[in-house]
Amino acid sequence: MARSAIQFQKGLSLPEFQRLYGTEEQCEAALEKARWPDGFRCPRCNGHEYGLVYGRLKRYQCRNCSHQATITAGTIMQATKLPLITWFLAFYLIGQAKTGISSLELSRHLGVNYDTAWLLHNKILRAMADREDAYLLQGKIQIVASGFREAVDSYLGGELLGGKAGRGSENKIPIVAPVSLNEAGHPLHARITAVSGFSSEAIGAWARDHLAPGSQVLSDGLACFRAVTIAGCSHEAIVTGGKHPSELPQFRWVNTLLGNLKTSFNGTFHAFNFDKYARRYLGGYCFRFNRRFSLAAMTERIANAVCCCMPSAERGLRVAEAYG
Ligand SMILES: [Zn+2]
Repeated sequence: MARSAIQFQKGLSLPEFQRLYGTEEQCEAALEKARWPDGFRCPRCNGHEYGLVYGRLKRYQCRNCSHQATITAGTIMQATKLPLITWFLAFYLIGQAKTGISSLELSRHLGVNYDTAWLLHNKILRAMADREDAYLLQGKIQIVASGFREAVDSYLGGELLGGKAGRGSENKIPIVAPVSLNEAGHPLHARITAVSGFSSEAIGAWARDHLAPGSQVLSDGLACFRAVTIAGCSHEAIVTGGKHPSELPQFRWVNTLLGNLKTSFNGTFHAFNFDKYARRYLGGYCFRFNRRFSLAAMTERIANAVCCCMPSAERGLRVAEAYG
């Protein structure tokens, strides 16, 4: 049996991780590279000349306006009391885990309490989801409707339902699962997203935010998917003949993706309010899927995403935590 190039690719080994990110100085330098790839930029005046004030984290003092900033100021890591090594170990564990990692497991590996691990995990997932938002799917795209139902026993999380089963029923959060394909028909990118419903208005608005004009969409025939034409896409519906989309060979890749997502969620998220956290959990999943060919660089990619995520997101997370 042929080995999967993705599954057997060289990741980042733990010794290699320690060699690259084993000290606070190395982590700080990695963040500098991610945040200011062309050298320091003052967050206040955009000046590039600076002096250094040494402390737990270096302070960059702008020579133009005297503003002082650390490498984490102005990012979702702002004012963190955790060592940078702990953050990087979290980037590593989240990035390398094949089917995701739970906050509980993260807390054990990082040696922090569950609440700290939960907040760290959710900040990182938020940053990964934000990064995904910048991406538009294009070219040939398969799309099916799905849904997520909260389980009665919330500790067990919820249940992801494939294909038509999730549509329009009560107590289900509607999801659209699109995947773009290359010329050979293999998957490129996924943008699994919760939507407000399976109406033409909801799908039209979603398509404008997620699909590039000119894309060719193949859907499972749900009427609302015709609304992708609002976003300048062409649309072809597969007549399912009453069959579940998971039984149709045309939707092989998107069904595989949903199956993997279900496995990942079952082992990863416990007692969560899917409605509230859907965006960041689905975004985090797609971030990893969309970079699955570069497992060795995943830690660096996540560090980049975290550096680009503004602290305003943190306030939202804390509200979600207080009421979640
Ligand atoms: Zn300045």
